[in-house]
Formats: sequence, structure tokens, C-alpha cells
Amino acid sequence: MSTATILTAAEAAHKAILTNEADIEALDRAIGDGDHYHNLKRGAETVAGMAEDLSAMEADAALKAIGMKLMSTIGGASGPLISSFILAMAKTDGAADPWTTPTVAAMFRAGVDAIMKRGKANLGDKTMLDVLIPVADALEKGVADGTDQAALRERIKAVAQEGMESTRDLTARYGRAAFLGERAVGHIDPGAKSSSLIIASICDATA
Ligand code: ADP
Ligand code: MG
Repeated sequence: MSTATILTAAEAAHKAILTNEADIEALDRAIGDGDHYHNLKRGAETVAGMAEDLSAMEADAALKAIGMKLMSTIGGASGPLISSFILAMAKTDGAADPWTTPTVAAMFRAGVDAIMKRGKANLGDKTMLDVLIPVADALEKGVADGTDQAALRERIKAVAQEGMESTRDLTARYGRAAFLGERAVGHIDPGAKSSSLIIASICDATA
């Protein structure tokens, strides 16, 4: 059941990446080295190629297999971070069972914590975390408030979009954009953009 959700989410993410090639590439060319789109595309294609094997696995094992594989395929700064996110989700209590909203919230938080631990960045540093931290917060708040699933999906999409937009006015302390100092101001962070697009696509595809 949850493995089917993983495959649906992977397919949605793949499509979101391909559809937004121009945007993602332009942002990383502006304040990075222009490879973010290709890094993500390679990762998404790799996961698509694993679909048949994954479909026979429990959800936690499927996530672990994806995380391990992406570690060596995405590359760049984002590769190890995205892999850590997925591997931490795989290790979360309940990841092997049918997922509930509290399980998903706990998995997402574990993933975000793993990225913070590995990359040392925090909210406001102009990275993908400016999307991922507010989304983890919104998931936990949704669970605490008992928000229904449809409303929570819309809330998460809005929070991800806001977080992505917030990176425009920030300077970066981590990643390649940090070398640009004030010159990075005025540009959205590519990892924040891709995270927001991927999260929105997964919210819609798994509804
Ligand atoms: P690279 O920077 O090596 O070219 P990518 O272009 O694939 O790798 O990814 C760049 C993105 O990675 C940035 O836009 C940013 O969101 C994210 N990133 C970079 N460093 C960190 C970090 N320390 N913590 C969180 N995210 C980071
Ligand atoms: Mg790059």
C-alpha cells in the first residue's frame, strides 16, 4: 500500500522535474553552476528504472533502496542531502506499516533533520530547507490540529510556495550561492524551487 504511494510520488516528482526544466536550470545557472536540473533528472530516471523491483518491497525497504541508489547517482551538493532525507524516512518508526498522516509527518521531520545534520544549514540560509522546514512544521501542526487531508495538502502546497519565494530576498551561507554574497539576492534558490515543485506534485498525485 505505502509502496504504491512511493511509486506514485516518484512518478509525480519525475514529471514535475521534466516539466520545469527551464525554470530549474535558469535558477541554478543564475546563482549556482547550472547542473541542478540534470542532477534531479538523473535521480528521477534512476528511480523510474527501479520501479519493478521496488514494487515487490515493503515501503521502508523501498525507501532505503532508493536512498542508497541516489547517493551515487544525483551528485552535486544536493545528492547526498536528498539521499539522507530518504534514508532517514526509511528508518522512521512506522515506515514499514501502512502510512498514516502522523507517520508521514514523522518521516518528513526525520528527513529534514538528516539534511540539517549533514549540510549544517538552517532556516533562512537560502537552501531547500527554506521549503522543507516549514513543510515539516505544517505537517506536524496539521496532525496536532486534526486537519483533514485535503485541507492539509493545500496548506502544505501554500507553505512550500511561500518558503520558495522567501529565498529570493536572502543571501546564502551554504552551497555555491554563498560565494555570490549580495549578488544572490533577487534570485530564488534552485533547490527551494525544485523542492516546492516536487512537494506540490506529490500532494496532488497522492490525493
Ligand atoms: P551543486 O550546488 O553541487 O551544484 P545542485 O545544483 O544539485 O548541487 O544543488 C544545489 C542546491 O542544493 C541549492 O540550491 C540548495 O538548495 C541545496 N544546498 C546546497 N548546500 C546545502 C546545504 N548545506 N543544506 C541544504 N541545502 C543545500
Ligand atoms: Mg548546481
